[in-house]
Amino acid sequence: MKVRKKTHNLIVYFIVKNKRPDGRNIQPPDTRSEPHYKYIIMIADYQYTHTSYSGLSREDLNEYDCARCGAKHSTKYYSHYKRHVISLNIDALITILESEGDINTEELIDMAGGLFYDKLLDIFRVKCDSCNTTHAILPGDVVPYRQYSLLTMLAIVKVMHNRKHSIEKTAGHLGLSWQFMLALLNQWISFLHAMALVMRAVYKERIDEQAAEAREKIIGFVCGYRDSFPKNYQKEHKWIILMTHGQIHKGRKIALGMAANQ
Ligand SMILES: [Zn+2]
Repeated sequence: MKVRKKTHNLIVYFIVKNKRPDGRNIQPPDTRSEPHYKYIIMIADYQYTHTSYSGLSREDLNEYDCARCGAKHSTKYYSHYKRHVISLNIDALITILESEGDINTEELIDMAGGLFYDKLLDIFRVKCDSCNTTHAILPGDVVPYRQYSLLTMLAIVKVMHNRKHSIEKTAGHLGLSWQFMLALLNQWISFLHAMALVMRAVYKERIDEQAAEAREKIIGFVCGYRDSFPKNYQKEHKWIILMTHGQIHKGRKIALGMAANQ
C-alpha cells in the first residue's frame, strides 16, 4: 500500500506542478508496465536445478520468451535477489527417492555432513523489451514461496508413505516437526488427482483405483520420473507441483511461464 501511495503522490506532483518539492523537474512515471503490476511473473527453467543454477550467466538471460506478451527472446538482465533453498543431502535424497520398500529413517540420521543443507541462490530477474514486465527465472526444482526444494518435498512425502516408524519418530530422525510433515502430506494429497491426470495423459499410465487409494503408487511414480514429471506437470496444469493455488504475494497475483525450449 505504501508503494502505491508514493507513486500516487508522484503523479500528483507531476500534474499540479511538474516539479518535485525540491524544485527539480520530474519525468512522467513509466506506465507501460502498470496494467501488469498486479502480477508477479516467474519463468521455470527446467534445464537448471538449485545446484546448477549458478551456471546460468547474464548473457543466457537474453534467450527467454516473455511469459506475459509472448515476445520471442525479448528478455534481458534486470536485477537479482537472494533466496534460500533447503535440500536433503544428495545421498539421503537418492536413497529415499529410489527406495522400493520401507524407508528406515533411523539409518539416515548419521549421514556425513548433516541431513539437510541450506543453499543461498542468486535469482535473476529479467525484463521484457517489448512489454516492460519483469520475471524471475527459477530453476526447475525450486517452488515459489516454498523453502524446501521440490525433490526434498517429494522425498518427505515418500517417507511419510513408506516410513518404518511412527510419524513422531520419523520426524525426529529427520530433524523436522511432525506437524510440518503432516501438513506437507495433506498438501500433496490435494494434488493427487492432478498427478494421476499427468500420469495418464503424458506417460500413458492408468490408475484403476481412485486417486486417493493409489497414494503410494502415485508418489512412487512421480519420484521415479522426477527428471521429467515436474516439467510435464507444469505443461499440463500451468502450475508448479506443491505450489499453493490462488497464492497472492503482497496483493499481487502470480503468473507462471516456462523457458521456451521446454
Ligand atoms: Zn513481454
